[in-house]
Amino acid sequence: MNSALPSPRVVLFDLDDTLFDHRGAVKGALQRLRREHPGLARTAFAVQVGRYLDLVNELHEGVLSGTLSASAAREDRFRRLLADAGSSALPAEVAQMASVYREEYQRSRRPVTGAPELLGSYHEAGIPVGIVTNNLRIEQEEKLEAIGLAPLVDLLLTSEEAGYAKPSAEIFRLALRRLRAAPPEARMVGDSFESDVVGARSAGIPALWFNPRALAPPAGGHVVELGSLHPAGKARRQIAEATGVFPAAPDTR
Ligand SMILES: [Mg+2]
Repeated sequence: MNSALPSPRVVLFDLDDTLFDHRGAVKGALQRLRREHPGLARTAFAVQVGRYLDLVNELHEGVLSGTLSASAAREDRFRRLLADAGSSALPAEVAQMASVYREEYQRSRRPVTGAPELLGSYHEAGIPVGIVTNNLRIEQEEKLEAIGLAPLVDLLLTSEEAGYAKPSAEIFRLALRRLRAAPPEARMVGDSFESDVVGARSAGIPALWFNPRALAPPAGGHVVELGSLHPAGKARRQIAEATGVFPAAPDTR
């Protein structure tokens, strides 16, 4: 039945908040910390989640380049969340918060709804699946194992090992070289319009913007949306039908 579905030759996905529910794990971890540290709970939960995710993005570059350790970045985020809430804590307490956060984040790791079935469907049909992600390899490998997707993924390419980060076309080109596919034969699916969609298109790969929260689309760009990975058959059809690159990629040969 799977083989009856139309398919590109290979499919690339982003990992965080596309296949892996990063936002959900952040929420789970912050909920526990708010129970244990009432100072943090002075900020409304939704506001705090948004601020925390912004801080993760802001400090991520330092972690990727090795100028900031992951635990130092985590401690810095909690110092800033406490300051937002008009509170503060001793360094030892901040370190303890960061370590509880880490433990709860890892315990809260889940796939995005429909991700296991969709990847399983490609796997069964013999369509290679690659992941292109801006993060450290060890972190992303552990996530894939924890959420049970590792056996369904043919290539995990991180910015750490590629030496390029999305939205650079280079990281996408490297992924396709490894999967032996040409750009028009592939699709990219990801939740960041800039990194995943604009980046993939710059390498000539048709891309879909994964938008499960129905956010307003970015202005000025042609948007092909994928609202859900579920059900797998419908998602596969939408992915196969997305064939444009808007605008055409420059000829780089
Ligand atoms: Mg993402």
